Amino acid sequence: MSNQDSLIDIAEQYPQLHIDMKYATADNITGQPIYSTATCLLHRHAAVALAKSIEIAGIAGFSIKVLDAYRPQRAQELLWHACPNQDYVVPLSQGSNHTRGTAIDVTLVDTNGQDLDMGTHFDEMDELSHPYHPSLALAFQRNRLLLNAIMFGGGFVGIATEWWHFELPNASEYPLLNDVFTNVSPAQTDGVLP
Ligand SMILES: [Zn+2]
Repeated sequence: MSNQDSLIDIAEQYPQLHIDMKYATADNITGQPIYSTATCLLHRHAAVALAKSIEIAGIAGFSIKVLDAYRPQRAQELLWHACPNQDYVVPLSQGSNHTRGTAIDVTLVDTNGQDLDMGTHFDEMDELSHPYHPSLALAFQRNRLLLNAIMFGGGFVGIATEWWHFELPNASEYPLLNDVFTNVSPAQTDGVLP
């Protein structure tokens, strides 16, 4: 099985997901799209865990919104240059679990289609984004606990610095994948406007 065969399109596979791939829009820390497509891919093992989390969310009246999933290596380089802080962006030498297809960034949506307020935005590189930061108001603490319970129930684990990030417990044992889609427009790659 090739690298690329190990990835599945979770938007197609699980139509109950909300999808908002932030790196396909300008609404991310680089201030510009770094994916040329909003294609939402995940390693099939992580997709199995996600199916369980989707089921658990549904039982409690929530939907999962995906903010990022598989991330091409070239996009990881752009993120690192935009934010060379290893608390929030994995150094290039180590490789991101997103590039392995084994990590996913998510939040929760309620029955009215509203995002639950987690107290900080996705990719807000601040201590307040740490999942259990004691300075946050109770409502945000509880929303984060809900998200954790739903994702942990599927078999994911969290990390200490980002409330939105979840990955398989052995995420880093998977190989880094070769870039699957063209992630950056040629103009951005070359630094030259058309
Ligand atoms: Zn992440």
